[in-house]
Amino acid sequence: MAVRYELIKKCKQTGARVGKLHTPHGTIDTPIFMPVGTLATVKTMSPEELKDMEAQIILSNTYHLFLRPGHEIVEEAGGLHGFMNWDRAILTDSGGFQVFSLSNLREIDEQGVAFRSHLSGEKLFISPEKAMEIQNALGADIIMAFDECAPYPADPDYVRPSMERTTRWAERCLKAHERPHTQALFGIVQGGVYRELREQSAREITSLDFPGYAIGGLSVGEPHSLMYEVLDYTVPLLPENKPRYLMGVGSPDALIEGAIRGIDMFDCVLPTRIARNGTCMTSHGRLVIRNAIYARDFTPLDHNCDCYTCRNFTRAYIRHLIKCEEIFGIRLTTYHNLYFLLKLMKQVREAIMEDRLGDFRDEFFARYGVNEARGF
Ligand SMILES: [Zn+2]
Repeated sequence: MAVRYELIKKCKQTGARVGKLHTPHGTIDTPIFMPVGTLATVKTMSPEELKDMEAQIILSNTYHLFLRPGHEIVEEAGGLHGFMNWDRAILTDSGGFQVFSLSNLREIDEQGVAFRSHLSGEKLFISPEKAMEIQNALGADIIMAFDECAPYPADPDYVRPSMERTTRWAERCLKAHERPHTQALFGIVQGGVYRELREQSAREITSLDFPGYAIGGLSVGEPHSLMYEVLDYTVPLLPENKPRYLMGVGSPDALIEGAIRGIDMFDCVLPTRIARNGTCMTSHGRLVIRNAIYARDFTPLDHNCDCYTCRNFTRAYIRHLIKCEEIFGIRLTTYHNLYFLLKLMKQVREAIMEDRLGDFRDEFFARYGVNEARGF
C-alpha cells in the first residue's frame, strides 16, 4: 500500500479524529487542508512559500495537465514532483469534475466521456483507463478514481444511473492502475443528496477495498446544512482505518463541521480564487480589501494572524496593490488566505487532542459570523 492511515486520537466532545497519513512523500497530519495547484502551481506561490506556511500536501488537476502540457511531458520531467520541484505529497483529482464542468459537447457512455477541450475545441476522450494512465504518468502520491460528479439539483432518476456507472468505473480504475505500491488510488462515493443512493454507493465502493475514500458530489451549490446532513449518514459507512476525503470543500465553517463529522482531508480553490479579487478570510469573517473604508487603515489584514502578510503589510497598502492589479497584492492575499486555513486546521487538530473541538467551533463561529447559506 502506498499510503497508511494511523488513528492518533478521537475528540471526546465531537468524535472528530486526529491521524497521520503516511505517504511516499512524507507524513501528513490530519485533518488537513490541501491547497490547490491546478496547473502544477498554486497560483503565485513558490514551493518555498508553501513550505513556509506548512502546507503538507497539495492538489493538482488531471484534466488541466492532460490538456497542457500533456502528461507525457510531466512524466519525462520526473512526474509532478520533479516537474514543479515539490518534494512533499501530491494528490491529483481524476479529471471527472472538470470534464463535466468545463468541457463542451460532452457525450457520456459506459466506455467514458467524449468532449471538446475548453481551450482548443479539440475532440478528446477520457475513460477510467485513460484517467489512470494520465495519473500514473503524473505520479502523485494519491490519485482518484474517474467518476461523474452529478450536478445540484439533480433528479434521483439522473443521479442513480450516474452513481452506479461511477461504481463500475471505479472497478475499471482499480484494474487499470499500474502503480499501487507508490500511488494510492482512492474510491469516490457519489449519490447526490439522496440517502438511499449514498448508502448504496458507500456499500459498493468500500467493498472494492481502496486504500482511502472520498465523498464527491458535495459543495456543488447545495446549502451547507444539506451537505452536513449527507455527511452525517455517509461518513459512518466508511471504514475507520482508512483516510476520508471531502472533495471541493474549503470554507472555514465546512472545514470545522466536516472534521467534526470524521473527515480527514479537504481541498478547494476558494481561498486562492477569492484572494485574487481581494477577498480575505480573517478571524472576524470575510474582509473585502477593495472597500474604501480601508484606504487609510494602517493595521494588518487580521490582528490574530502571524503570517508574512500580516506581520509586514497594512490593509491600506494591500488595498492599493489590489486596486492597481499589482501581482504582489495578489501574492499577499493568497499567502494570507492559505495560511489562515492551514492554521485553522492546526487549531482543529489541537482542539481534538484536547477534547474541546465543540468549544473551539462555538468560539470560532461567534467571532467569524457564519453566512447561513455558503458559510463564507
Ligand atoms: Zn495573515
